[in-house]
Order: sequence, then C-alpha cells, then structure tokens
Amino acid sequence: MKSLITLVFLLQLGLVPALSQSTYKKVTKLMGCKFEISVVANSQTEADSYITAATEEIKRIEKMISSWNNDSETSLINKNAGIQPVRVSKELLLLIERALKISKLTDGAFDITYASVDKIWKFDGSMTQMPNPETIKHSVRNIDYKNIVIDHEKSTVYLKNKGMKIGFGAIGKGYAADKAKALLISIGAKAGIINASGDLCTWGTQPNGKNWMVAIVNPLNKQKVFSWMPVVNSAVVTSGNYENFVTFNDETYSHIIDPRTGYPAKGILSVSIFTPNAEIADALATSVFVMGTEAGLNLINQLNGIECIIIDSDNNILKSNHIQFDTVKNEKTNEENISN
Ligand code: ADP
Ligand code: MG
Repeated sequence: MKSLITLVFLLQLGLVPALSQSTYKKVTKLMGCKFEISVVANSQTEADSYITAATEEIKRIEKMISSWNNDSETSLINKNAGIQPVRVSKELLLLIERALKISKLTDGAFDITYASVDKIWKFDGSMTQMPNPETIKHSVRNIDYKNIVIDHEKSTVYLKNKGMKIGFGAIGKGYAADKAKALLISIGAKAGIINASGDLCTWGTQPNGKNWMVAIVNPLNKQKVFSWMPVVNSAVVTSGNYENFVTFNDETYSHIIDPRTGYPAKGILSVSIFTPNAEIADALATSVFVMGTEAGLNLINQLNGIECIIIDSDNNILKSNHIQFDTVKNEKTNEENISN
C-alpha cells in the first residue's frame, strides 16, 4: 500500500513517467445489434482479456432473455403462457420484477408484454401492408403487465393468459451494458465504455484523465452534433423512431408500441435519458416515447438524478429541468468522444 501511495505522489509531481495506458476498442455484433466495447488498459493483451470477458457476459444475458432462442428461459415462459408457471433463474425473475416496477411508474407505458403484438408489427422490411385493426384489437388484449405472476419462493414466472408474451427489447441492452460494466470493474478494468448501438454506460476516465464525452446528435442528421456532454460513471440511452420503422401511406410507424392501443407510438423522434443506470435509462427512454412529451417530461422531472432530452416530430428540442446545454461545438474535443 505504501509503495502505491508513493507512486501516486511521484506521478503527481511528474517525476516518473505515467504508465502508458490507452483506450482499446472492439466492435462486435451481440444481441442483434452493434456493441462497441472500449476499455482503458496497459496493453493489447490486457485489453483483449477484458473485452473477451465482457463479450461472454453479454452473450450469457442474451441467452437468457432472447425470444428467438427457443430454449431460453424467456421462450419457456412464453410457451407456457396460460398453461403453467415456469421455474427461472433468480436473475431473470429480478429483471422481470424491475421491469414491472417501471410499468407501474409509467402507468403501463412500458410493458414487456407488448410482445404479444410482435408478430403483427414487423420492422425488418417484411411487412407489406397495414395490419388489420381487428387483429390488433384482438392481440392488444394480451398486453397487460398485471397478468405477469411472480412467485419468489418457487422462483417461477407465469403469464396468466394464452397468447401472452414477454420481450426485453426495451430494457435488455441497457441491462447487458450495466452487467458488462460491473463485470469489468470487478476484474480490475479501471475505465471504459460499453456502447450498445447508442445505449451506453461509462466508468472511470480517459487515459489523459479527461471525462468521456458523448455527442448529442440530431437523429435526422447524425453528422450534426448539437452538444457534447460529459458522461461520468453514468449512462446515456436513446430510443428513436429513425432506425426501425415501416411506412404506409406516407405515415411512419416505429417499433415502439403503445400498449394501450397496440399501435406504434407517435409524436416523438427521439428520447435520450441520462442517469447512472443503463437499464433504467433504457426502459425510461422507451416509456417517455410512449407517454409523449408532456407526460414524459413531467415524469422525468419528478425523478431524482434522471434527465432527458426529447426531439419531437416537429423537430423541437425539449429538455428536463436540470439539463445544461453547452453551446454548440462542432469540432471534436478529443479522440475518445462517442456519438450517441
Ligand atoms: P432501441 O431498440 O432503438 O434501443 P428501445 O430501447 O426503445 O429502442 O426498444 C424498442 C424495443 O422495445 C422494440 O423493438 C420492442 O422490442 C420493445 N418494445 C416496444 N414497445 C414497448 C413497450 N411499450 N414497452 C416495452 N417494450 C417495448
Ligand atoms: Mg429502451
């Protein structure tokens, strides 16, 4: 311990050269999206071991929450909807429980049972016409988080009605980013960024001691940065309607579903949430998208330590009470900046 203190002291005086730390970055496809894992390390070998550990952790989570994988715990819950409770890991049970808390907080705007309509709305280019209103009406009856029954003692989850389904599209990436970050910290990685296609969390600082900075971009013109913000041991998550959508009769329908109607939510282009926890940020970004600007801002302004920026469909920029915008700087302030 003593030698560590001495070393720090000398470093501050500049008497010995600092160990040369750099940021190492790897881009991989995980959970169906682009994950960019950046870590500060002393060597490529050290960085590689961190990045491998983070990747394994994200794959593990994907295996648990994926609805494409027929054997995942999530698929088992869905297959047994209206039939029987399914025994699951404590980890998944607790994730579902936290999702239910967000549902209560947002009065059902956030609802993992939205997934009952995911066979109707497809945003992969395969949809050729507007879904039938009757089909939507029929499926929307299965959306209701109150029909998810959790039994802690038996560690089971039960969806009460046949046809019900849960999906973690709006919370899974944030959860995975938090878990990967926690794992890296636990094995000694001093700083880094986990960026899941714009849903990101950071810890520590850049090797030069400066804060990680995130660029807030206009969703319609990603080249145009309108502000840089420091992200200090925190998360920034954006939900937007500009990547996954379909167009019918000049109307755009995005992948965020209003659980009350079964139709895609309207009125907002993007929502960015700033808060320490990426999982909460992820869930709330989706929630505000559904709630709309007024109710959304109202909710965020009541929550401590959570801020948001909304761009509505008329291109207005709205902010929660404590967001401080720097004046627009168009040039990057350092090479580690991340665009969100
Ligand atoms: P992105 O995928 O762009 O990060 P979100 O975090 O908002 O955006 O997640 C959108 C996904 O969440 C949808 O593709 C769908 O899987 C799921 N989803 C859609 N509507 C809801 C909702 N009301 N509540 C919970 N999850 C939803
Ligand atoms: Mg989300």
